[in-house]
Amino acid sequence: MAKYNTNQRRELAAFLSQHPDELMTAQEISEQVDQSVSSVYRNLELLENEGKVTRQPKDGCREMLFRYMASEHCADMIHMCCSECGRTMHMDENTAKTLCDMLSSDGFGVDRTKTVIYGVCRDCGGNR
Ligand SMILES: [Zn+2]
Ligand SMILES: [Zn+2]
Repeated sequence: MAKYNTNQRRELAAFLSQHPDELMTAQEISEQVDQSVSSVYRNLELLENEGKVTRQPKDGCREMLFRYMASEHCADMIHMCCSECGRTMHMDENTAKTLCDMLSSDGFGVDRTKTVIYGVCRDCGGNR
């Protein structure tokens, strides 16, 4: 049984690593990897404890969205999520630094790992 769980976790991690920075619910992931929602949820929690996955609430509902952090690099990036196409991108390092510096001079330290800014990306006409 323990071995079975390990395999499920490995499959889940393999699937997520092919979808870095994508926001998905446990339900969506479970359909993709063909595992029960409860075991996906449990394994996501383990990956979250290892710092490989972060979660955030989905707009206006109680469901959680999970995001796999592609690399060590990801942990240090501010992510921007397009609410039109659902893509997540990294904030330009200079912009992120300026923003964090401004906030820290106001006495607020930004937790970059958890920060996600919602908006509309250029491709979806955010700059119109
Ligand atoms: Zn990232
Ligand atoms: Zn977009």
